Amino acid sequence: MSNLKLLRKILRLKSLKITNFWFNNRDRELHLAVKPYKNGCRCPECGRRGRIVHQTTELRRWEDLALMGMRILLWYAPKEIRCPTHGRVQEEIPWAPACARISYRLEWRICALCQIMTQKAAAEILLLPTSTLSNLLHRVITRVRHGHKIRAVTTLGVDEISYCKGRKFATLVYDLDRARVLWVGPGKGRDTIDRFFNECLSRGQKARIVWASCDMSRAYIEAITHHCPNVTLVIDRFHVVKALNQAVDEVRKEQWRALDTQGRKAIKGLRWLLSMHSRHRTKGHTRFLNSLRNSNRRIHRAWVLKDEFEHFWNYRYRASAETFLRRWMTAALRSRIPTLRTFVGTLRTHLANILAFIDRHLTNAVGEGLNRIIKIVKNRASGYRHLDHFADMIYLTVGDLDIPAHIPSQLRTL
Ligand SMILES: [Zn+2]
Repeated sequence: MSNLKLLRKILRLKSLKITNFWFNNRDRELHLAVKPYKNGCRCPECGRRGRIVHQTTELRRWEDLALMGMRILLWYAPKEIRCPTHGRVQEEIPWAPACARISYRLEWRICALCQIMTQKAAAEILLLPTSTLSNLLHRVITRVRHGHKIRAVTTLGVDEISYCKGRKFATLVYDLDRARVLWVGPGKGRDTIDRFFNECLSRGQKARIVWASCDMSRAYIEAITHHCPNVTLVIDRFHVVKALNQAVDEVRKEQWRALDTQGRKAIKGLRWLLSMHSRHRTKGHTRFLNSLRNSNRRIHRAWVLKDEFEHFWNYRYRASAETFLRRWMTAALRSRIPTLRTFVGTLRTHLANILAFIDRHLTNAVGEGLNRIIKIVKNRASGYRHLDHFADMIYLTVGDLDIPAHIPSQLRTL
């Protein structure tokens, strides 16, 4: 077996022919002069063979997967051909996408590694500088996302995430049926969410959205109802409960400030107990909370109201749920606790959208699950300063992307 054939076999370069090889940089780089197998000369659009019209001598370089700590670089001078349909084009390169500086195999490896580790760790394995790797990943993600059409969406979820140490925000749009992130955009205002609807969805697609879930932010609610004529908006349960818990916690804080050391001791450890769902409480917890009836009536009142509110989520019929909610609101107003009154005000504003939960028990739970994965990605990298890199990683791990469709199957070897 000749050296060239052996090299081709070891490197598993099936779609091309090695014409020459040399080592560089103290044997740390293996350079290969290659050409497409069976002469190539195919149109990248339609795959038909074309006549060569221009033969350049200018060599182009592609980086391939490193082997045994040795970088592998491919060299070739692409020809220009004339396709009967597409005119004068550059011939198709079987081992790399058009205009790319790296091979399909390296792209595939970058995507696979970045899904399970930080870009820094992946860069070390692939013998690339970290900044180069993030640029390469950005190119792959951009290419895959370009021309990608969002498939039939009927249930939309919108939420915000923070990055840059919690100083900046981004809006995430989910497809809650398929549990994928459809879009990531900077900011959390109306113009951000408007951009998603204007750029990513056609009029027909907007009309087909029947359910949507979001928090109580006015920007999101108004945008969703403005763009989707047939939508039923459900306020996310998680956010309602969070607002209620905050209102109850305010009562605890206010009492804490007013009490002396002795009194403070009596309500110690309440912070987590108050926000805990009744399902997770032990008997001891409940006994402690019940004892507050005598020691601290105000906190006890707030807790009882909070606990009663949990029943709302179990209702099956809208009318009875509404009766329950109205009664609860009256009781909360009577408690004369200002923070709970504010919460009742919020409930009143969003009443129809909160009651919509009874018709379809839709929550952002899927979105929260995706957020957990996103948080892992974020923490793994110790946070992101720029949304671009963060968005790439979000699309890569939980995005609505079809990366395999853009990389030929025989080159997806690892
Ligand atoms: Zn063609």
